[in-house]
Amino acid sequence: MNSKIWLSSPHMGGTELSYIHVAFDTNWVAPLGPNVDNFEKDITAFLKEDVHVAALSSGTAALHLALVLAGVQAGDEVICQSMTFSASANPIAYLGATPVFVDSEAETMNMSPALLEQAIQDRIAIGKTPKAIIPVHLYGMPAKINEIQAIADKYGIAVIEDAAEALGSYVDGKMCGTYGVISALSFNGNKIITTSGGGALVAHSKELAQKATFLATQARDAAPHYEHSHIGYNYRMSNICAGIGRGQMEVLAQRVEQRRAIYNKYYDKMKNLKGVSFVDEPAGYFSNRWLTTILIDPASGITRETLRLALEQDNIESRPLWKPMHMQPIFAEAPFYGDGTSERLFRDGLCLPSGSNLTDADFERIFKVIDAVFA
Ligand SMILES: *Cc1c(COP(=O)(O)O)cnc(C)c1O
Repeated sequence: MNSKIWLSSPHMGGTELSYIHVAFDTNWVAPLGPNVDNFEKDITAFLKEDVHVAALSSGTAALHLALVLAGVQAGDEVICQSMTFSASANPIAYLGATPVFVDSEAETMNMSPALLEQAIQDRIAIGKTPKAIIPVHLYGMPAKINEIQAIADKYGIAVIEDAAEALGSYVDGKMCGTYGVISALSFNGNKIITTSGGGALVAHSKELAQKATFLATQARDAAPHYEHSHIGYNYRMSNICAGIGRGQMEVLAQRVEQRRAIYNKYYDKMKNLKGVSFVDEPAGYFSNRWLTTILIDPASGITRETLRLALEQDNIESRPLWKPMHMQPIFAEAPFYGDGTSERLFRDGLCLPSGSNLTDADFERIFKVIDAVFA
């Protein structure tokens, strides 16, 4: 059996261990410490804006705290992009609130502004003004975030940006991770950079970021004993994980270039194949191309499953696009506003191996399978 080719695996830059060594030498194994402070500074500098960053244990934790800070409570409704990873929606349920799912538009595969407005008007009409809106930048492609923000502003609803897949992406020069009131980043193992597991909350207001770190460290009030006037969480990133993060930040710009080069490689290889299409960047949009995705029109006689199974035969991992949340058994009862777009994207879409550590030999194997399937 050939060795496994992964969809997206960790890719160290080389200096990560040196930051961890310093943490060991100074016994900053815990808690928090200089790697966390400097990792947060590195992220702030990368985002090129006056934002405040709190390094956390995961992107899911960042979304959970963002909803807490937005005042979401049991019984509230929160609008969420339907086509996404479940971690975008689960924190809504953690709080006893109800997700209201909105379909995607085909141009970016993310939340449709038109359907968003329809959903808001409909919820307001039944007396349920949504507490927040969670758009996602899937696979690194920015959502129509300016249009979404304008609609949110019109109705006075907070935007919580799920930028877990989009570190390094931007629209008109403004980085993903700096939109909305609060943004969530992820450094999970398969993301464009990783801390083995981790995430960050990004806020424009210093006060919000401070509240986030307060809640993330068990909400301890100022007192010599342990005093609590809020429910707290244990969501901070460790100084060891942050050491990996500092090394990864040194190569982030390079990783974006590498992922984009991989996208171009697939594009050149497959653009003329019958039934295959790609999602281009709209004018002013820049995607980090975290994962290269293609759509295969089943009318061509080949489906995304044909290709996925052929790749699997050769021990090559590929994956259907995210199955929309409104199609998931756990969210079957949740309200949904859609026009069939995400269902079609799920039916036709496939994520191809996109790790920045893929070798030429890996691509030879992948392309051989593609040639055989489309011959
Ligand atoms: C990875 C991811 C998350 C969650 O991040 P974790 O760090 O794995 O908790 C949330 N939303 C999206 C869209 C993601 O891809």
